[in-house]
Amino acid sequence: MLRNKQSSLSQSRTKRPKVGIVGLTSCEGCQFSLLDLGNRFFSLLKYVEIVEFRLMEERVFTTPKMDICFVEGSAVTQANEKKVKEIRKRSKILVVLGNCAALGGIHQIKNHHDKDKLAQETYFHSQAMDNPEIKRMSELVKVDYTIPGCPVNSLEFLRLLYSLLKGADFYIPPKPVCFECQARGYKCVLMEGQPCLGPVILGGCEAVCLKSAMPCQGCRGYFAGAQADNHFKHLRALGHSADEINHLLEIYGLRDSTLILKKDPSRNGSG
Ligand code: SF4
Ligand code: SF4
Ligand code: SF4
Repeated sequence: MLRNKQSSLSQSRTKRPKVGIVGLTSCEGCQFSLLDLGNRFFSLLKYVEIVEFRLMEERVFTTPKMDICFVEGSAVTQANEKKVKEIRKRSKILVVLGNCAALGGIHQIKNHHDKDKLAQETYFHSQAMDNPEIKRMSELVKVDYTIPGCPVNSLEFLRLLYSLLKGADFYIPPKPVCFECQARGYKCVLMEGQPCLGPVILGGCEAVCLKSAMPCQGCRGYFAGAQADNHFKHLRALGHSADEINHLLEIYGLRDSTLILKKDPSRNGSG
């Protein structure tokens, strides 16, 4: 869901809207992709006041209220959950930035496995660890907009921000990755038998993975109206096992939102 609610921001001529960009637990790749905009990012400062963005300046909150807050990352601890709820209270518009925040990212893989055992295998001192189930941001707080991807397409960030400043609506057309893949003349890896999720995943990434002949793993989530179950049947017909498809769907938090494929009785894989 990219547009949970139509929100607009009335921009005063004398006062720039206050914008925050904050991270929970993440690799910070989405935040870095905003800095990759270079001058186009810094040109925004004519129109908005960045009141919080740790990658630019580390400082303690001085501004209790924000007009727009972009939130990257997953809430992997109770402290993270508390932080996002507090951010929600301080923000008129809350925008989810990237797959970790939108769908739980790689953090939510543990939801499909024995999360305590995984913690024991990963950390030396795991007993005292805060190890909650990973939730989508929209399960924790009200989300106004979502910019999908891992990382996000920074041009969508710009488009959203300028739309809000103008009071215009923002949405991403519900077209699949296949649309951009074929428009660019990339070879179809699905036709070669690879488990590509492109037919059911929201386009807007310019099919960047297919440029390198990597199948789409779905970081942008499903587009509205995607016939995911039909696509999984097709993947099964191509010889991909239910376990293989489930593991693929786990990578970017897609497994919960769709048909839970039954495990292959012949296999004992987890999940
Ligand atoms: S969505 Fe991807 S790039 Fe963005 S913070 Fe999560 S792992 Fe990093
Ligand atoms: S490679 Fe994937 S994204 Fe490209 S056309 Fe084939 S199924 Fe669609
Ligand atoms: S091709 Fe798929 S996995 Fe790759 S960036 Fe696009 S949506 Fe994400």
